[in-house]
Amino acid sequence: MLRLKSYLAGEWRDGEGEGATLYDPCTEEAVATTSTAGLDFAAAFRWARNLGGPNLRALTFAQRGAVLKALSKAIHDAREELIEASMQNAGTTRGDAKFDIDGAAGTLAYYASLGKKLGDRRFLVDEGEQLTRSPRFYGYHAKMPRTGVAVHVNAFNFPAWGLAEKLAVALLAGMPVISKPATATALTTFRLMEVLLKTGELPEGSLQLVCGSAGDLLSHLGPQDVLAFTGSADTGTYLRGLENVLARSVRVNVEADSLNAAVLGPDVEPGSETWIRFIKDVALEVTQKTGQKCTATRRVFVPAERIDAVQEALVEAMDAVVWGDPRAEGVRMGPLASAQQLRDVTAGVQTLVEGGAREVWRSSREAVGATEGKGYYFPPALLRADEPRKAGVVHEHEVFGPVTTLMPYTGLGEAGELVALGHGGLVASVYSDDREAIGVLVRALVPWSGRVLVASAKVADQASAPGLVLPSCVHGGPGRAGGGEELGGLRGLDFYMQRTAVQGDRGLLERALDMR
Ligand code: NAP
Repeated sequence: MLRLKSYLAGEWRDGEGEGATLYDPCTEEAVATTSTAGLDFAAAFRWARNLGGPNLRALTFAQRGAVLKALSKAIHDAREELIEASMQNAGTTRGDAKFDIDGAAGTLAYYASLGKKLGDRRFLVDEGEQLTRSPRFYGYHAKMPRTGVAVHVNAFNFPAWGLAEKLAVALLAGMPVISKPATATALTTFRLMEVLLKTGELPEGSLQLVCGSAGDLLSHLGPQDVLAFTGSADTGTYLRGLENVLARSVRVNVEADSLNAAVLGPDVEPGSETWIRFIKDVALEVTQKTGQKCTATRRVFVPAERIDAVQEALVEAMDAVVWGDPRAEGVRMGPLASAQQLRDVTAGVQTLVEGGAREVWRSSREAVGATEGKGYYFPPALLRADEPRKAGVVHEHEVFGPVTTLMPYTGLGEAGELVALGHGGLVASVYSDDREAIGVLVRALVPWSGRVLVASAKVADQASAPGLVLPSCVHGGPGRAGGGEELGGLRGLDFYMQRTAVQGDRGLLERALDMR
């Protein structure tokens, strides 16, 4: 059986013992094992701090960008091999695998272009300000790469993009990375790492991979290090509270659960362009990647008088989705990624139903191409809660599968209040062509969301779906979503850089900060 190793301190290294087993979610056959037991993570930190950091900081932004460009190209060239790994270990359709892998290549390419634009500089300095009456006494804010290690811990649902989106920003900022994918779907990340190393473009020490359990990895985090975590709120809360993380003020970014909302405006008539776009987006968000997207739409708010028409249209759109083994002809939705996911989603739907929602539809199709009694399949399902304020759990419990809950609202004020019951989300979407309604909703949703997408008729055929994370826009969200912020173009670099006020004689400072 395939053995996944970790790439640490310049070598592929195997942990002791059998470790964890990775499965094919369609057949439940074991595809690989991996272990990190006994691996020396302290040495990995030293390697990154002593080699990776200095090597990256010696490069200009343009040079770091060139590295990212080469990595992006390598992923693109290895696309078929990576799609194969994703289908085998994550049960994705080809389309879902491409979403992850092309997203990885695209994000690296985007940050490569930012590096090129930043040019020959190695760190960033703002415009500066005169601080007293003397024009000589000046203050600048300099942003320099932190001299530690960026540890990235990722969720199971984006094994390629998860590594690449964080890596792109950290490397461009000038920080070396230790990346840990979720164990269950680490095969794609392992293959990706092989592809990236083969380019020969990664500066020595700039990237290491932990395949398997984190062990004592995080206990080595110190004051110049950062931790970027994507996963469940429970794990995020635990990691944030680690003793060394608190005592050494380790900078932490958390991307966690999110009860993303879609709101249909009161002006939208059934059959209109905006209506069609709304139905299409919700059906896509529920079923793409089998609903295992942090940005998937979990709560759908519609004007009370339209709820039956919306339900009918959504059921029709979701019923068109053929699901089963992605290797079978015509399958558009695969199984959940793991046995644990299947247990969680099954229990999650039960929790929502006990909490005031009712299941109004579940796909009655058979899982196409499935082996009898095998596979972590869960059909697309639609829930409905007619009294959303009484169904508290619908706004609190994220079911990470092909499931969403439809709810009515009366008046725009109530729509905003209901979205806020989710206590902070990654993305909220508004479907309307009424300027007033859009204004009210956007102003109500922004404080509770990392991103707000407005889909109106004029952009209906051009706008991206709400679940698509673009590297130029911030990804993250307040409250339940973790309170974090990633990507967003150059904004993302701030996490990996120390911003420091530097005061003194203007001429001297400009020389010290390489401004002349
Ligand atoms: P998870 O169980 O919290 O695991 C996430 C990562 O944390 C995995 O790499 C896991 O490693 C690691 N981990 C778990 N316990 C740890 C510990 N004590 N110390 C160090 N690392 C630890 O979450 P998941 O099941 O993979 O992901 C699903 C959740 O992630 C969903 O709730 C979803 O909303 C959220 N998510 C959020 C975003 C976002 O951008 N906001 C994106 C994707 C997913 P092992 O696999 O080895 O246990």
